[in-house]
This record gives sequence, C-alpha cells and structure tokens, in this order.
Amino acid sequence: MNIPQMIPWFGEEESRALTEYMESGGFLTEFKKTEELEKTIATFVGSKHCVMVCNGTISLIAMLQALNIGPDDEVIVPNFTMIATLNAVKNVGATPILIDVDPDTLCINLDLAIKAINFNTKAIFLVSANGRYPSFDIDELVQICQEKGIYLLEDSAQALGSYYQSGEHIGTKGIMGSFSFSVPKIISMGQGGCVVTNDDDLNSRLRRLKDFGRARGGIDIHDSIGFNYKITDLQACVGIEQMKKLQDRISLKKNLYSQYENGLSGHSKIRIIKNDINATAPWFIESIAENRDELQNFLKEAGIGTRVMYPPINSQLAYKIEGSFPVSEMIGNNGLWLPSYAQITVEEINYVVSKIIEYYESV
Ligand SMILES: *Cc1c(COP(=O)(O)O)cnc(C)c1O
Repeated sequence: MNIPQMIPWFGEEESRALTEYMESGGFLTEFKKTEELEKTIATFVGSKHCVMVCNGTISLIAMLQALNIGPDDEVIVPNFTMIATLNAVKNVGATPILIDVDPDTLCINLDLAIKAINFNTKAIFLVSANGRYPSFDIDELVQICQEKGIYLLEDSAQALGSYYQSGEHIGTKGIMGSFSFSVPKIISMGQGGCVVTNDDDLNSRLRRLKDFGRARGGIDIHDSIGFNYKITDLQACVGIEQMKKLQDRISLKKNLYSQYENGLSGHSKIRIIKNDINATAPWFIESIAENRDELQNFLKEAGIGTRVMYPPINSQLAYKIEGSFPVSEMIGNNGLWLPSYAQITVEEINYVVSKIIEYYESV
C-alpha cells in the first residue's frame, strides 16, 4: 500500500479548459477568466467582492496593507496556525502578539485575546483551523472589535466550504477574509489566494495594491503605492473548473472524516479532533495521538503518509517567543494529520485505521 497524507486532484476538465484557453489566444495574465473566478467565489461565499491574488500569504499581506497596518501596530494572532499568518504581520513591520488556542476548536482563545488588546492593537486574526468556527459566538467578537476600534481579519485559508452556525460562510464576518488555493487546500490552482470583503473602498484599495497602485488598469498613473500580486488567467481556468467540483469535494471530505471518526471512536490513545460536519468541511483529518512520533514511523513502514501538525509558532526558531501556551504545545507534541485527500478510498481509510489500532495494540 502507498497512501500519502495528501495528493492534489486535477482532472480532464482542467486540462481541457487550459487547452481551450491557450488555443483561444488569451494574454495569459489575469483578465476575463480571473474576473469569472472572482464572481464565482464571491457568489459562493456570499460576499460582495472577491479579489484574486497570487497566493494565500499575499492575500494576508494585502489585507494588512489595505488597512495601513505597519510599524508600531500590534496584531493578535493564534499560536497554532500556518506560519504565513504571522509572517504576513512581520512583512508589514507590525508586531504579532501570540495567543494560545482553544483545545476543542484550535481557534484563538477569546478571553486571552481580549486581555491582550491594548492601545497599539490594530487587528485580530481569526484563523479557522481546519474549517472550524470558534466555540465563542462570532458576533460577540465582531462587537468587541467594533467597541475597541480594531479590525477583525479572517484567515480562512482552510475554510472554503465551511460555515458559521448562522449559515454565513467563514471568512465573511471580518472586515476582510482570506482564502488560499495552494495544492493541499480543498481546491487548488497550484498557487492562488483571494480576499473577500463587502467594503467597496477596501475592494478598490486591494485592486490598486495588486496592480502597482495604478489608478485603473492599463494606465501608468499612480496615486498610491502598489505591487504585483496578480495571478494568471491560466490559474483562473483551473480554479473555475475546481469550483465546479467543490460541492463534491466537500461531501467526500465529510465522508472520510466520518469514516475515521467511526473507525477510531472509543480508542483511548488516539482521537480525531472534532469538526461539526453539518456546517464545516474538514480540510485535513486531525488527530491527537499518544506516542505520536513512534506511531508516525510505524505508519510510514506500512506505506502510510502522515504529517506532524504545526508546532507552536512561539517555539519556531524564526520567532522564539517566550511564554506559556499549553494547548498549542500539546498539539505540537501530539497532533498528527492523517491521510486526507478527497479521493482516498474506503479501503484505504480502513487500512489506515487498522494499522493505527495495530500499533497501539503492540505497545
Ligand atoms: C495555507 C495557509 C496559508 C498560506 O497560503 P499560501 O497560499 O500557501 O500562501 C495561510 N494561512 C493558513 C491558515 C493556511 O492554511
């Protein structure tokens, strides 16, 4: 058996769309196909605007730049997230303030976050870990942010197809929300990201930021500073086809989550971190495992790929921040991503589950 932790899934539809596009003689850089993809995503998540950019790190940076967040500003960030959330804050010269996460949702701990708010705080990042909504009421956080005059930003990179309990799509409660379409994400175009917002002014600022600060497309008049965050219509062609498959992928992800959950339920040494699959689409299958590293080696011998979950950011050499973060430390020690690609078969999952059980029976 060879069961990787993750493999992408592109099909004939994507290659046909690319061939047709190339034969039609497009410019390759972003244009009509990108606009079509933006409309598709905006409609899907229920947001007024969607601005495509080249990846989900740039989308985070663009959100901060659009709000003029920079040196002297603090941004509150969870200590369990993909490193890009923090790096984006660093990129604009602001100071990330690390906060531990909630053990049930792996989303930021609200009480600790509120305590960290001070005069310099400009924004708080809500990262929806594995598509989960936080255990607190999101409207409460929206209100706190309004009262304190800080921005709520959503890093929803892992949350396409996931909703708050109210039915609103994750990423649409903050002033802006960011998504990623890198290869491991629920759909992909190799690289890609986007910002969604209902704010017309932020939408036009984001569009200028991604196109050298041009006052409008195709002219060289610049009334603000911008960069080049554009994608290509080639990626948009792939993205449009991937969006057509999103609902199916979401169902497959929910099914595979249920299968793992059933297979491992009642086990005392390993547990799947809960996702509410009525509302959210798990991106990866997340487990908390005893003897995590040994289990990982055992599975590797059996041809099963897994991936250690993100170490606590404060412990990364790039940051080295002192502090006590018991939950993110626990995830760093025991968190393991199990094989999670949407096209995994029932037999493959059964095999993974049986090998996990075999390992714990042997120790
Ligand atoms: C994947 C991811 C990113 C980065 O996205 P890229 O497109 O790879 O730059 C940022 N934040 C989170 C939470 C992610 O999962």
